[in-house]
Amino acid sequence: MGKKISIIIPCYNEEEALSIVYGAVVTEMNQLADYDYELLLVNDGSSDNTLEKMKELANQNVHVKYYSFSRNFGKEAAIYAGLSNATGDYIVMMDADMQDPPALLPKMVAMLETGEYDCVATRRVTRTGEGVIRSFGARMFYKVIRKMTNINIADGARDYQMMTRQMVDSVLALTEYNRFSKGIFEWVGYRKTWLEFENVERAAGETKWSFWKLLLYSLEGIINFSNVPLNVSSYLGMGMTGVSFLAILFIIVRKLIFGDPVDGWASTVCIITFVGGIQLFCMGIMGQYLSKMYSEVKNRPHYIIQETNTVETKLNN
Ligand code: UDP
Ligand code: MG
Repeated sequence: MGKKISIIIPCYNEEEALSIVYGAVVTEMNQLADYDYELLLVNDGSSDNTLEKMKELANQNVHVKYYSFSRNFGKEAAIYAGLSNATGDYIVMMDADMQDPPALLPKMVAMLETGEYDCVATRRVTRTGEGVIRSFGARMFYKVIRKMTNINIADGARDYQMMTRQMVDSVLALTEYNRFSKGIFEWVGYRKTWLEFENVERAAGETKWSFWKLLLYSLEGIINFSNVPLNVSSYLGMGMTGVSFLAILFIIVRKLIFGDPVDGWASTVCIITFVGGIQLFCMGIMGQYLSKMYSEVKNRPHYIIQETNTVETKLNN
């Protein structure tokens, strides 16, 4: 047998989509007859019959491994669990809903086989079928994160990418608790090439991301990879010190010229509230970083596997 391909699929309430994506992936893998494969299905605390579906598939097909979390830990944790347990030479992760076309798999393998790249990533060039606000928000997010960090995440980049064993080992060396995979995949470096595809709508079920969940996730991405917000607060502090210095000068000069009129109450209150607001804002930014540090320091496992059909399972980290 030649090389082995690991396919990781994080699943959260995907009972309908799972059999569709399974069928599509197996079709592709049967075409790649020179390669062995394993399909790692990660059940991220689904409340529907996703786990039962996984067990069925595992009974049908020896290539299927499933890992079932004790609760919903989030897609990042599911990806991490998959990467930690994957044993292949080429490792790829894809969504369960067919938005990451399995038909690209043979092409990805072929591109890695040339030896010119360590990673074949994918990006959507269209966002048809997605809400206006959501695609606008997403584009803004990529702009902001490119400006504020020194990692360059392409617009429309998916988590759907195939990496070599070496690159995955590097990704796993970053054991941080607050994970933002798109940033981590860029941070580790290596030679990357892009496949582009048109957006596909979900095959079944519905999206697991609400607007707020996405917004918080993007803030996470920025805070995990950028110190700019922290710098902003020190710049603001410096700026405000300068402004208040000028204000003090102005008040002294005015007193010397005009004596001591009793008015000036309004301007005083304005300054106090403004400065107070800036201070709270800066403390809030520091609080964000502090809370990230707190969760890192606690060093909790990324996920807890309650059930699996494999023996040598990396339960966490
Ligand atoms: N997912 C997960 N845990 C979660 C949310 C999502 O494992 O808490 C999985 C989900 O099952 C799917 C993938 O992440 O395979 C992408 O989710 P979805 O399609 O809902 O996101 P969208 O495509 O709308 O951004
Ligand atoms: Mg989707």
